[in-house]
Amino acid sequence: MRCSRAVLMICVLLVACTPDAAPPFTPTPPLAFTAPEFHELDFTEQRRLMVETGVLAWGVEDPAVLEAMETVPRHEFVPVGYLSMAYENHPLPIGYGQTISQPYIVALMTQELNVEAGDRVLEIGTGSGYQAAVLAELGLEVYTIEIIEPLAQQATERLPRLGYDGVQVRHADGYYGWPEMAPFDAIIVTAAPDHVPQPLLEQLKVGAVMVIPVGPVGGYQELWRILRTGETTVQTTSLGGVSFVPFTRDSGSP
Ligand code: SAH
Repeated sequence: MRCSRAVLMICVLLVACTPDAAPPFTPTPPLAFTAPEFHELDFTEQRRLMVETGVLAWGVEDPAVLEAMETVPRHEFVPVGYLSMAYENHPLPIGYGQTISQPYIVALMTQELNVEAGDRVLEIGTGSGYQAAVLAELGLEVYTIEIIEPLAQQATERLPRLGYDGVQVRHADGYYGWPEMAPFDAIIVTAAPDHVPQPLLEQLKVGAVMVIPVGPVGGYQELWRILRTGETTVQTTSLGGVSFVPFTRDSGSP
């Protein structure tokens, strides 16, 4: 009895050791398998979808603006950690407490500027440089001011690298505009002050438009389209409620 049990054990062991009985071999997936989504992101298709569903479907229809939005590589303006969200219709952090605006808002503000190729435009709030790139894509002469030095520095490097080498970036408090290059055919402000800076109004050509969000920090802000109708007159139209980062002031500002 004891002997036959031993024989049985040996048989079991032998069977277990034969190649057929070995657990099936599962090859380790190649490393690339974990990342194709990342590497094969079709940014062109994502951009087309962003424009179709987040810009055109939301009412921005200017063909030149749509084309510019479909051309500028937004993913180059967002931190790597947010790459997969680059073409979603919401703002994203760009560091230093600031954000790159939502694509729809960029498109709306650009459309409302009522500009044409060759016009000179001033942007206050360079941030990532994305809005400036969209303006440059329209064939505009772009001047942009950023108050946070590292952001100004990054945009100064990023824009020419992406082919937008005509964009002039300045590190300064944009409250005072860019008097040497005034007057402008349009002014776009991408941070929200609690009032419209007078120097910016003065640097706007008569007949030109400024698009600017105005409102208290953390409170209700309204996006205004301000048409300068004369030396001392303006016509304002509300483009609706918005949420922008605050327009800050240099501690050295008067
Ligand atoms: N247009 C940007 C969005 C930037 S968010 C883009 O496309 O990415 C607004 C930017 O305005 C921030 O970078 C902020 O630092 C800047 N800003 C705030 N107050 C400013 C001021 N007084 N002068 C210039 N830039 C200012």
